[in-house]
Amino acid sequence: MCLKFNKKLVTTLLVFMSLFIISSSVLAAPGTSGKWSNRTQTLFVQTGMSSKYVTAYNSGASKWRTKSNFNVSTKTGSITNAFAASTTYDSSAGWDGIAYSTTSSNGIRKSSKIYFNTYYTGRSVYTASILSGIATHETGHGLGLTHTSTVETSSVMFPYTFKSDGKTSARSLSPSSADISVVNKLYPKTSSSKSLEETDDSDTVTLTPSWVVYYENEEELADAADLIIEGTVGEHKNLEYTKDQFYTYTTISDVNVKDIIKGKELNEGGNIEIRQMGGTDGETTVITHDSTILQEGQNVILFLRQLEDGTYSPINQDDSIYLKTKIGDNTTVNALSINKNTKKQETFFNEKNGIVLNNEIISNIETQY
Ligand SMILES: [Zn+2]
Repeated sequence: MCLKFNKKLVTTLLVFMSLFIISSSVLAAPGTSGKWSNRTQTLFVQTGMSSKYVTAYNSGASKWRTKSNFNVSTKTGSITNAFAASTTYDSSAGWDGIAYSTTSSNGIRKSSKIYFNTYYTGRSVYTASILSGIATHETGHGLGLTHTSTVETSSVMFPYTFKSDGKTSARSLSPSSADISVVNKLYPKTSSSKSLEETDDSDTVTLTPSWVVYYENEEELADAADLIIEGTVGEHKNLEYTKDQFYTYTTISDVNVKDIIKGKELNEGGNIEIRQMGGTDGETTVITHDSTILQEGQNVILFLRQLEDGTYSPINQDDSIYLKTKIGDNTTVNALSINKNTKKQETFFNEKNGIVLNNEIISNIETQY
């Protein structure tokens, strides 16, 4: 395989990448998705939980209350309240915290339920300050923030708890000034008395996880993966769910394996089942942020973790999905996720599989092989 770069275009690319990195570090802030009709809210903390989780939720709420216009207090109570916090347990998940939110079509938040995943948070590496950071992150989702869209570790809305060593904190444990200014814009102190009320019943629940580990680049992902394959997406086989336990809503696709990049011999040329977060029970549709459901016919490279039932799931969902496209003689591999240090991508895929470049920079380079 021979590879030809146009030197001038490579230089353009490098300049573009450094501009992108500089600008993203200045501009990055979380986005928003929905807001409560009133900036004063009570977060009900499930009665009877272990005191370390109660302490973490109290601490998370106080970080927003004391710094921003979002005046959230806590009270013990039931998870059936509109804004509530509890724990759950899922040993096949890659997240240590999650929020379920529903929002009216006019953008008014109707409910947010936030959970620790005690499969992870019971471990000693989850200190009081790490738990408080996760509670702050999930409460941030609860009040209407989305993840930071680029590598922005100073934001509490950075989607990951630990670096790839599994013990060093990856995100700020308190809101940054950028986080606070987004919240204050969402909830101005001088809002008009005619605030919007929630309207219709929404059939969509949005899930916003806090992922356990941040894999900064493809080499780290590759180390963590049980299996890396290239293949073509077939049909959605079926959907699985436990009613109203929304993180269990899963879409399963058949992927026809063309090549195994890492992992034990499969029935190469055969199919494997890929499980992705998000799906429907026919009434409620569950959409998980950072989980884009694969479509039939797509050519993909997947970094996979094997689950207890023998099926596979992309590590941190979109972080481990790469779309491969061939146009004429040119092949590009595009990361679905932009939560990556892009510098090492080119090297990794050149060695393993061809060329990879992010969506943002494809137009600046011509590749042939
Ligand atoms: Zn999150």
